[in-house]
Amino acid sequence: MNETKKMNETNETSEANEANEASETLASTRNACDPVAIIGFGIAGYNAATGLRMQGYKGTIDVFSTNDMCPYSPIMTSYYASGNASYQDCFPWDQDKIDRLELTVHDLCPVQQIDASSHSIHTPKGTFPYSKCIVASGSAPACLPFAAECAYGPLVLRTMQDAQTLHDALAEEGCKRVLISGASMVAVKMLEAVLRTGKQATLVGRQSRILSRSAFPEAAERFERCVLAQGAELLLNNSIEHMSAIEDAAHPFGRILRVKFSNGEEREFDLVLVAHGMKSNLGFLDKGIDCQEGILVDEFMRSSNPDIYAAGDVAQAREIVSGERKVVGIFKNAALQGQCAGRAVAAELAGMAPDARFAYQGSLMSNTITCNDALFLSAGACTVPDNGHLETDVDEEITVVRLFEGDRLIGFNISCDHDQPGGRAYELSGMLTRQIREDASR
Ligand SMILES: Cc1cc2nc3c(=O)[nH]c(=O)nc-3n(C[C@H](O)[C@H](O)[C@H](O)COP(=O)(O)OP(=O)(O)OC[C@H]3O[C@@H](n4cnc5c(N)ncnc54)[C@H](O)[C@@H]3O)c2cc1C
Repeated sequence: MNETKKMNETNETSEANEANEASETLASTRNACDPVAIIGFGIAGYNAATGLRMQGYKGTIDVFSTNDMCPYSPIMTSYYASGNASYQDCFPWDQDKIDRLELTVHDLCPVQQIDASSHSIHTPKGTFPYSKCIVASGSAPACLPFAAECAYGPLVLRTMQDAQTLHDALAEEGCKRVLISGASMVAVKMLEAVLRTGKQATLVGRQSRILSRSAFPEAAERFERCVLAQGAELLLNNSIEHMSAIEDAAHPFGRILRVKFSNGEEREFDLVLVAHGMKSNLGFLDKGIDCQEGILVDEFMRSSNPDIYAAGDVAQAREIVSGERKVVGIFKNAALQGQCAGRAVAAELAGMAPDARFAYQGSLMSNTITCNDALFLSAGACTVPDNGHLETDVDEEITVVRLFEGDRLIGFNISCDHDQPGGRAYELSGMLTRQIREDASR
């Protein structure tokens, strides 16, 4: 992709005016003609650029990207790794579509620091001024303490590089035994990828059920039965305590991985994959911006700093069931938040208040998880509140668990033995999702 070098200079800082409120100081140093900066060129970043242009912003948009490719979808990485999607399938937008946005994309240019007081962004390629900045840097796999002293770094799944590494490892015939640590959505996607390549797949999870953060026991249990029927091995209530790489010149990877589990058992594997959750990429942020697990934002994705916005896996926006601000890391939220942030920035730079019609309506956690033929769908809350109760219906094909708080539906799970696109499970999921939204608004 093209890179247009921008002037490597920062704005002049304001005259000494220390008694002023921080926001007044910021306003005085900002030059509205400076580019809008977008940090991160993923789903949220791309949609932020779209929102800016849709709202009529004609100025320069500087996009800072860690890589040199079009925005990719992490959702597709497991399908590519197993050979069930092409490399190209991982890129939702082609170069022509991106070119029409007239962006100045700074490839291989990770942001190292935002300096809010001087309205500047520091990167290895220089310092860039901004008028408004949209942080859309996503999240990264959480760290893995058990592997600290092992020369082998377990594989994770987030970037296209991760997907390529897993793809190549699974394509190796001598790779036969694969261990997946974790039992979340990403772990199940990894499990599906391994099963699809015909390898022996073992999943180890600390909890007594898979998908324990989103599934109620009866729905999880049905999903587990389907996964076991596909030949997977589940080691639950268990975890990796230690892992070592034993050199073996005859092995295609030059080593075997010896794993000690918390139940005392020791086993050997050819590959260890890890999915221990995601953490928002916030390391470069100015200390003055209010953050918890993500950047706290309002309904226009504005942070506590008037010129810094956030969208996607890095943003902690209102969640509709609890009414609290949460990071809800799913594709749809990233897209909607990105567009909302872009529109709001464009309006404010044009001297107007953001249009209430384009305010962010709030996040709703939802999952669509398959493991070959097995299907799990969920939305909303997944812990039972004090005045809550569960209602469960089971038939020969499907288990439905509804979570109520008083008479309000606040969450559900559907486990289905056969994934039929457009089938009964999807229809019911759509209906229950609408009901959660309606109940949340009353
Ligand atoms: C394996 C996997 C499967 C998933 N499956 C689903 C699914 O089925 N359905 C669903 O809804 N969601 C799914 N998700 C979640 C979904 O992919 C994310 O919620 C979504 O990608 C978030 O978009 P984003 O733009 O915030 O982050 P990303 O798409 O990750 O983009 C952020 C970009 O910012 C870049 N960046 C990071 N730091 C910097 C920096 N300092 N400077 C510049 N750039 C930076 C990153 O490299 C990245 O390119 C899945 C995620 C994974 C990992």
